[in-house]
Amino acid sequence: MPLLPPLPQHEPIQRAPALHPDTVAVHGGMAGVTASGSHVPVIDLSTTNPLAGVECGGDSYENLATGGTIRDGDSAVYQRLWQPGVARFETALSALEGTGGTVAFASGMAALAAVLIASVAAGTPHVVALRPIYGGTDHVLATGLLGTSVTWVDADGVADAIRPNTGLVILESPANPTLALTDIRAVVAAAGGVPVLVDNTFATPVLQRPVESGATLVLHSATKFLGGHGDVMGGTVSGTEQWMVRLRQVRALTGGILHPFAAYLLHRGLRTLPVRVRAQQATAGMVAEGLVGHPALTRVLYPGLPGQDPQRLLGRQASGAGSIIALELAGGFETAVRFTEACALITHAVSLGGVDSLVQHPASLTHRPVEAGARPGAGIVRLSIGLEHVDDLLADILTALDVAMDVGSNAAMDGAAGEPRQAVA
Ligand SMILES: *Cc1c(COP(=O)(O)O)cnc(C)c1O
Repeated sequence: MPLLPPLPQHEPIQRAPALHPDTVAVHGGMAGVTASGSHVPVIDLSTTNPLAGVECGGDSYENLATGGTIRDGDSAVYQRLWQPGVARFETALSALEGTGGTVAFASGMAALAAVLIASVAAGTPHVVALRPIYGGTDHVLATGLLGTSVTWVDADGVADAIRPNTGLVILESPANPTLALTDIRAVVAAAGGVPVLVDNTFATPVLQRPVESGATLVLHSATKFLGGHGDVMGGTVSGTEQWMVRLRQVRALTGGILHPFAAYLLHRGLRTLPVRVRAQQATAGMVAEGLVGHPALTRVLYPGLPGQDPQRLLGRQASGAGSIIALELAGGFETAVRFTEACALITHAVSLGGVDSLVQHPASLTHRPVEAGARPGAGIVRLSIGLEHVDDLLADILTALDVAMDVGSNAAMDGAAGEPRQAVA
């Protein structure tokens, strides 16, 4: 008898094509839970696991440290090599992304680092990356910290930038923080067989499944929408089993695995992901429309607004525009700072994708490490729209815009939806 119950890696329930993503989100990764007498997965905090014998223990170690998945009769050996709750979360996310597998890490940056290490180890250290992109990604690539070199391009420049030692093409759509959409299929074609990694953090598998457009790898900062409540950090890479073997090996050897409690929270987060993403997106659409034409703004950047999806990728590559909005303030840096600091219901904080709305100034914060010429404009602020009522969000934003323009807050309610905003403790 195996020391540990066999772990579900292939769950018939997720393979049935008839199930809708909403159903998969609720039931993915749950195989065996009911049969064990529980309603939700048990959180196993064991850092080490009993071995049935010296020889089979060594055999399990060998399998897991070289990137294998746990087999019948294997011990998990050591938490850094294999963790059952992490594996459940990975199974659930793979089902949503439609990939052969997922490997989960302690953060989005740990996930990216593992991909870069694997690419360098394979003798292909050159990366072609599309700007703009998440500031941390930009930073790790620009510094070459992990032994990569980078060529920055836009979508049209991909084909010319590919070299014999190019191991990855990296893009984000929608991009951070301009919300520009990139045609994944076109980039995959231009990459000519070089694996394309799509950072799908902003869209989530609810709105976009990059492998359906030909991408090889899908990355998430699970810290954002997947967790959804601003209380758990994690990162994932999903893709073919061949890549997952390499990434599990990198993870086992470099130690960036997700914590079991984080895995539990992220797995739970997936169950409400579709409803959260759709509700936040609906509100974001109304907020964006409500701000178009405001005299304090030169631009409202949101792919769902008319004219902002010239390639018509919405409905084709992605089913919706998501819930991140960028605003460009007419007064530049000074007004952007005043606006950010005047938001009250909306918290001034980095991060995104949670149930509560956040605002931040990318040029000062998330994109601070980006070289000056590629940094977002100083007048741009980024909003992550949460689950609050749209009228309350618009009232907060309109008041903050008035403060930013020095109009004074008494006039703030003119044109704002609903009653004057209540103080929020
Ligand atoms: C936050 C973020 C990351 C980095 O993830 P962490 O979990 O913070 O390490 C990568 N990409 C995007 C788009 C992000 O928003």
